[in-house]
Amino acid sequence: MVVFQQHLDRIYKEIIALPNTGKVASYIPELATVSATKFGIHLMDINQNIFSNGDSQEKFSVQSISKVLSLSMALQCIGENVWERVDVEPSGDPFNHLSLLELENGIPRNPLINAGAIVIADILVSQLENPKEDFLKFVRVLANDTSITYDKNVAKSEKETGFKNYAAANLLKSYGNLNNDVETVLDFYFHQCSLHMNCAQLCDVFYLYINRGKCKRDVAHLNINQIKRVNALMLTCGFYDEAGEFAFEVGLPGKSGVGGGIVALLPNKFCVATWSPALNKKGNSAKGMAALEQLTTLSELSIF
Ligand code: GLU
Repeated sequence: MVVFQQHLDRIYKEIIALPNTGKVASYIPELATVSATKFGIHLMDINQNIFSNGDSQEKFSVQSISKVLSLSMALQCIGENVWERVDVEPSGDPFNHLSLLELENGIPRNPLINAGAIVIADILVSQLENPKEDFLKFVRVLANDTSITYDKNVAKSEKETGFKNYAAANLLKSYGNLNNDVETVLDFYFHQCSLHMNCAQLCDVFYLYINRGKCKRDVAHLNINQIKRVNALMLTCGFYDEAGEFAFEVGLPGKSGVGGGIVALLPNKFCVATWSPALNKKGNSAKGMAALEQLTTLSELSIF
């Protein structure tokens, strides 16, 4: 039997002792208020046994991790039509890069970079009656947890400084790949990114990606083909221009966010979330990546 708790205890001790090499994101001013020394890890196996250590119950801004959830909701709404508006290739560029968008005529490389997630936000704004409320409800239902909320201060802070996202949205609009107005789509996108959750809640939500599309209460939300596609995108596009490095070091599909969170998973086995706000140069949590590398090495469990 896999002894997850022992692994997490060992990882916690070792990670806490490492020097803090990364930097907390500050381009969204509200994110810079978080302490760089936080570290939490939480794991849920396919039987819903849970294991954790450190600050796993402390909430933080999930940021880009939310892109997996908005994509999933868009797939629920319009199915394969999503792929007419966004591609499925790794970008090899930072999450907010704009040059490829111009080269490729307004079709974002994938739904997990900002431009792609903004197109997905546009789809949800068109499809949902009350987009912000309905998306939050979707996340709460997946987690079976009504305490999950947006962090309005983070959403406001990003709205005030999100110049690159305004640029991306305007470029998308100029290529005809945004149906709603820029302000409305970005208001939704900034709220989506401001989801305020802890590592345990992230595992609750991401359980469906290890359980063939069924949430913790065994209700189906995505079909197995949709899960296959979303998990493939997490593996190839989930870590900005460090997806190769993450696959090499950790060997799991996953998604990171500039709030310092990472979720990673092994289908049919477990999902795991880490939080450590100090980011490496590529924008991924430095200690989170180190912890997950240790987890797959110690447990000898990865998709490879
Ligand atoms: N809301 C953030 C942005 O658009 C998300 C970035 C991230 O977590 O990668 O800049």
